[in-house]
Amino acid sequence: MTSWQAITSWTLTMIGLAPIFLFSSTPIGLPITTQTERVAAMLSFVLTIGQCAFVGLYGSTMRKMLYDRSFELKAAYKRIEELAELDELTGASNRRCIMRMLEEEIARATRSGSPCSIALIDLDWFKRINDAYGHPTGDEVLRTFSITMFANVRSVDRFGRYGGEEFLLVLPDMDADQAMRALDRLRAIIADLDWSAFSPGMKVTMSAGVATLNPNETSDLFLARADSALYAAKAQGRNRITRA
Ligand code: GH3
Ligand code: MG
Ligand code: MG
Repeated sequence: MTSWQAITSWTLTMIGLAPIFLFSSTPIGLPITTQTERVAAMLSFVLTIGQCAFVGLYGSTMRKMLYDRSFELKAAYKRIEELAELDELTGASNRRCIMRMLEEEIARATRSGSPCSIALIDLDWFKRINDAYGHPTGDEVLRTFSITMFANVRSVDRFGRYGGEEFLLVLPDMDADQAMRALDRLRAIIADLDWSAFSPGMKVTMSAGVATLNPNETSDLFLARADSALYAAKAQGRNRITRA
């Protein structure tokens, strides 16, 4: 209990007791006649004051503990919410989260009239990587790919794992040309990365299908156009970006 809190509670008690003291005609006094009674009265007075101080201090400690605990609970709850939205292997947003972000960006672009592009990205010949180097190495490749993407996109861009070795990148305020340039830059970064730490001679490349939002387009149609562009990129030989 802080000193001002103690003074406040003492003052309030006094204000509460004052009417009894002022407006009652009963004589107020302690029935003390002997020395023993005087000592007993003194002791009970000290004990009462001590109890008040203890209750005050205990109360304020409890209040502080409860405050700290609720702060910790809030932080833990926020962390749980974050984890529920992350893909545990790659640390990218999971499918549910990236789909929600896509809906949000579509709504924002529709409201503001600004462009919005997406890219469906798929790692090339990933089954061969698993077969040649093992599934755990494949996992590490997915993790490294994801980290590299995060390091090379804007903070407003949204990146999530769409499924398996397929990822969705949402690019707010980017028209088709800007998105194509951004994706080709990312493609080159992945292709030029030194993957030999995983295994000598290892090469990893990606292909992507880019689409730019049309007026009144639904997310399903938007994604379907990006998916057919990705299909075309694969058909044309992989390690390339194709637009819808
Ligand atoms: P393409 O160039 O046509 O995309 O060929 P691909 O081999 O990448 O395509 P395919 O769809 O045949 O294979 C994808 C592989 O990705 C198969 C699957 O085992 C692997 N895969 C999916 N999720 C994971 C994962 O979490 N970890 C690992 N290591 N492999 C995964
Ligand atoms: Mg693939
Ligand atoms: Mg795939």
